[in-house]
Amino acid sequence: MKVDLPLIDIHTHIGRLPGVVGEIFTPDDLCYICEQEGARFMLASSASATTVSQHAGVLETAAMARAHPDRLGGMFWINPHDPAWREDIPLAVGAGFYGVKIHPVLDHYAVDRAALDDVFACAQENAWPILTHTDVDGTPMSAACYEPLIQAYPDVTLILAHLRLGAIPLARRYENVYVDTTYMEAVVVEVGVAALGSEKILFGSDAAEGFAVGRTPGRPRPPRSYASLLAALRERGISETALESILYQNARRIFHLNV
Ligand SMILES: [Zn+2]
Repeated sequence: MKVDLPLIDIHTHIGRLPGVVGEIFTPDDLCYICEQEGARFMLASSASATTVSQHAGVLETAAMARAHPDRLGGMFWINPHDPAWREDIPLAVGAGFYGVKIHPVLDHYAVDRAALDDVFACAQENAWPILTHTDVDGTPMSAACYEPLIQAYPDVTLILAHLRLGAIPLARRYENVYVDTTYMEAVVVEVGVAALGSEKILFGSDAAEGFAVGRTPGRPRPPRSYASLLAALRERGISETALESILYQNARRIFHLNV
């Protein structure tokens, strides 16, 4: 079933996922979801950046972006532990990547300026928004840890994935900070809209996890679809206008997408 609103998914992955060896998603899997479920565009990074090497992930993402420019856009998964992480910048620029993805939990580092100053500076230079996985509140990888970076890089758009409670005050306080809906229950999105307004929330899913891709995946997960995620948001009474900004307009504006 296709969604009846325009949809851009800013948070998807290809590559070799952590957790189970053999759970691999390809650009074709994401294209399958686009076609079957009616998404206009997806931003994707490769999880091979954390399970294999940053360079392997960037190569996969660049190949994807070149093969499917109308459907899929690349995100540059940076691991600041990798002493050679900067060497992939030209590849990311050349393949027209739309932003940076970081995952301090999977890549094992505490979030502070020492760890991420250079990554934020790189994002600033290339006008790349940063999408980050925030860990549960109260940990050294939680949303609150980003505040000094947010203050130091007011020109860098920062999207704090997974709409944690600790992200809400930051997105309220700082113009350049947003949250995404990836893996959040509809009730949390409803609370997020009430606290932040719909302009500050972007739709993400961590697809292809749980989505139908026309084959049996390496790791079975509870099934999901865009239609079911959207239906759950509507059930919470989130207005159509708000849904249109969350699902489509905000991503279009922030990532300068012409879809
Ligand atoms: Zn993710």
